[in-house]
Amino acid sequence: MNTKHRRRNLSASSTCADCNCPLETVMHVLRDCSIPQHLWWQLLPIGLEQPFFSLNLQAWLSCNLTSTLLHLVWNLPWNLLFTSFVCHTWKRKNDITFGNMPLSDETLLTVVLSGLAIPQLRRG
Ligand SMILES: [Zn+2]
Repeated sequence: MNTKHRRRNLSASSTCADCNCPLETVMHVLRDCSIPQHLWWQLLPIGLEQPFFSLNLQAWLSCNLTSTLLHLVWNLPWNLLFTSFVCHTWKRKNDITFGNMPLSDETLLTVVLSGLAIPQLRRG
């Protein structure tokens, strides 16, 4: 994110303020920064770790958005968990950037899971 801002002279630095990585790209904000990565490791279905952290942005989005995996722990479709988590990760980064209070890791995970669990309960 800061990398694009730096190229357009919207930011003085392309460094991630959260982990000091020298290039804060969209991929970094959504997946590779130590902050979301910690939560991805809690969310990822077993066996998905290798491709998940090695794909480029387009392949990563495509692979996860079209996945038909069911997350066995939460009994939720992986593509819905992925989408919700990406949206909340992006929002949290913007909250940090604009000085708003970001959600804690635990609250973010609770918001993602509770937001998806409500439609599940209504169907049953
Ligand atoms: Zn970072």
